Amino acid sequence: MELTGSSAIVTGGASGIGAACARQLAARGATVVVADLQADKGEALAEEIKGVFAQVDVTNTEQIAAAVKAAAEIAPLRAVVNSAGIGWAQRTIGRDGTVESAHSLEAFQKVIAINLVGTFDMVRQAATAMSLNDPDEDGCRGAIVNMASVAAFDGQIGQASYSASKGGVVGMTLPVARDLSAAGIRLNTVAPGLIDTPIYGEGPDSDAFKANLGQNVLFPKRLGSGDELASMVMECLTNSYMNGEVVRVDGGIRMPPK
Ligand code: NAD
Repeated sequence: MELTGSSAIVTGGASGIGAACARQLAARGATVVVADLQADKGEALAEEIKGVFAQVDVTNTEQIAAAVKAAAEIAPLRAVVNSAGIGWAQRTIGRDGTVESAHSLEAFQKVIAINLVGTFDMVRQAATAMSLNDPDEDGCRGAIVNMASVAAFDGQIGQASYSASKGGVVGMTLPVARDLSAAGIRLNTVAPGLIDTPIYGEGPDSDAFKANLGQNVLFPKRLGSGDELASMVMECLTNSYMNGEVVRVDGGIRMPPK
């Protein structure tokens, strides 16, 4: 699928995997709407890639609508990457079997609201705009990639909310792809392993933490880069025969229980 002359939206585009996707989309000729909570980083990136920043909290349906409208006004919206997300280590049951005070319904609901409901809302609204595009010779009007995580399959201690949210993203992949195929829209999901982004914090402590974490990877024994992830996202967006798929990009990691 050709992206030159199209617009694209990347939620969570100000940082990490989303920023790498925004840069690669721009390199392929799309005008990118960087949709994120973080205005300073988002605006700087938008300027670098000659795109546009949109202040979007993905739990706010009007802000999603505004970003979709802004993109469609620039050029036909043909690509969306849903990378906005938060990690949340929240142990609900202690090792001694007691329920700890950290167990909070509010925190669980927040993770689901951002990672799962926010992703669905952008898919829903972007697909409506894409359905108005002229189709290419394959009948394709646009493509969407959602970001899951290997935690959807292999959740660790403290990851109940995160794994549930990413499991939801995996689970909706095929039914939503089936629904959207009638409109000529493809949807795939990428499930990253351990990727070197600000989600693990920044500074010497987090560098040591990440080096240690990399030892869990089958090969190569390091964290992945945002660009390695973004390359798979680009493949899912532009390969006309990719649809309804969940792709792990994780160096073969199968995390041992902590
Ligand atoms: P990151 O923290 O570098 O980037 C996430 C971005 O999402 C940030 O810019 C943040 O401002 C934005 N964001 C958070 N909440 C938002 C909201 N409510 N509305 C709009 N934007 C919001 O993290 P990353 O590692 O690049 O993560 C990107 C995606 O990849 C996330 O969905 C994450 O769960 C997933 N993921 C990351 C890893 C990893 O190891 N880094 C592994 C598996 C999955």
